[in-house]
Amino acid sequence: MLNIFRKIKAVGFDLDRTLYKENPQVANKIKVSLVNKVLNKKPELKSFKEAEEFYDKLYMAIGSNTQTLRKIGFVNAEQIMYECLSNADISEFLSHDDRLCKLFSKLQKKYWLFLISTKPSDLAKKALIKLGLSPDIFKFCIHGDNPQAKTKTDGLMFKYLLKLSKLVPGKHVYIGDSLKADILPAKNLGILTIAVGDINEANAKISNIYEIENLLL
Ligand SMILES: [Mg+2]
Repeated sequence: MLNIFRKIKAVGFDLDRTLYKENPQVANKIKVSLVNKVLNKKPELKSFKEAEEFYDKLYMAIGSNTQTLRKIGFVNAEQIMYECLSNADISEFLSHDDRLCKLFSKLQKKYWLFLISTKPSDLAKKALIKLGLSPDIFKFCIHGDNPQAKTKTDGLMFKYLLKLSKLVPGKHVYIGDSLKADILPAKNLGILTIAVGDINEANAKISNIYEIENLLL
């Protein structure tokens, strides 16, 4: 166990690219449908390639697909994101992860757990069940279709978690793969962070989720 995590009582997780690796086929399918929506809305971009470059540039600055869609002018950005995600359902590619299940049963004995994912609740639950995890293992699940808090990059979902939790921020650690959507908003509220991937702003970084065992257990 790493010393800085000694006071932790609650461990939180992002879902996509944190509890499972990205599937290139699914990522591509989501991207193609997003870019086509953009091209439909902005025909002046002329080609798929031009629309993709336009989208990527905004996304790099914003760090969230839904916020990027909103910036482009989609009032129903969440609905569009939902359609793109459900059309390219990642859960089809997921399977039972025994190592992950064992890790979670150990974590559960020591901490209470929470999930914060911008994925809508039905899609997130489907993915968890495919991995072999019951959504019930999380004391709190905050999803992208939660009417009170549905965005991460502005910290809303993390603030909502702190309101539910009632523990001081420093007793939580959040594990995620995105600098802008996971690490920075959690860190700005005083929540400790672990990055899956090479993000120096986090308190610790790991190359895959199984490595949290060395940090937290
Ligand atoms: Mg993620």
